[in-house]
Amino acid sequence: MAKINRIGVLTSGGDAPGMNAAIRAVTRTAIYNNIEVYGINRGYEGMIEGDFVKLQSKDVSGIIQKGGTILKTARSARFRTPEGRQEAYENLTKFELDGIVVIGGDGSFTGASILSQEFGIPVVGIPGTIDNDLYGTDYTIGYDTCLNTVVDAVDKIRDTASSHNRIFFVEVMGRDAGFVALEGGIATGAEVIMIPEVKNQMVELRQFLSERAKSNRSSIIVVAEGDDEGSAIEIAARVQPEFPQFDIRVTILGHIQRGGSPSCYDRVSASRLGVAAVEALLDDQKSIMVGIVHGQVVHVPLSKTVKTHKGVPKNLLDVAHVLAI
Ligand code: ATP
Repeated sequence: MAKINRIGVLTSGGDAPGMNAAIRAVTRTAIYNNIEVYGINRGYEGMIEGDFVKLQSKDVSGIIQKGGTILKTARSARFRTPEGRQEAYENLTKFELDGIVVIGGDGSFTGASILSQEFGIPVVGIPGTIDNDLYGTDYTIGYDTCLNTVVDAVDKIRDTASSHNRIFFVEVMGRDAGFVALEGGIATGAEVIMIPEVKNQMVELRQFLSERAKSNRSSIIVVAEGDDEGSAIEIAARVQPEFPQFDIRVTILGHIQRGGSPSCYDRVSASRLGVAAVEALLDDQKSIMVGIVHGQVVHVPLSKTVKTHKGVPKNLLDVAHVLAI
């Protein structure tokens, strides 16, 4: 067992529901093991500025159900530079931290991996992003809550779409990955799902609209924001002149997908991973992410999580294809 007296915890990159549950679990597991915990505010920006605050068990009471992150989050350009990371490391040394837990996405883990390589400080990552695009874990914290928000919103759009026989393009989050669009689309019975992982979907979309023109029924087309064919607004503007018989509308779900109280699944995953992260530091792990694969907690090298692409599951693409008839 490693000698760990004091650790830091931070949230970085885009906020995700369940980050607070992870902060709580890290804090309480550390205290349970007689380790002091410092919260590092505003991600790597706070690490560079020395914005550290000691956390007691009571500081993390009543936060498991809250969205966002009590430690705030940030995107730090300075941390991308060796000078910025040097300043950050000096603060870690000043506060005598023996390890840190980083809750964030692939960008945050790239930074964490570099910090650990440069200065030898043990770092454990907890996957926290609504995008679910991290290799080494089946689900990231925040993804399930985000999906539930999408399902709730699209169900409501479906009611008005069907009342007016309208075609709705609904844009959901996912700059680089289509997980939210794919699972959100399947769950809401979307007629077409457009994601960056599948190419040339305009052909499929036009075929679908031609077919639908015969029955004049309403439809939902879910578009990931990073789709190759453009934004939902651009795609809708392209097809509207070709299908003037349709009343086409666009809804961009936007930041509501990030907020809200975390789902039960996200709270339990965050709790399990928070415990596992501190145990990994005690187990002398230096640069890993803790994830959940097939229900079991796993350790994955940080370098591997950031270098390996996690594709959307082929079987889900097949399900979406079969059910779209
Ligand atoms: P999300 O998936 O929700 O966007 P993320 O963790 O991927 O979360 P990013 O903005 O990509 O979010 O990264 C968060 C922070 O990690 C960056 O602002 C930067 O400080 C740090 N970071 C990202 N890439 C690097 C890098 N190559 N070198 C050093 N630091 C990095």
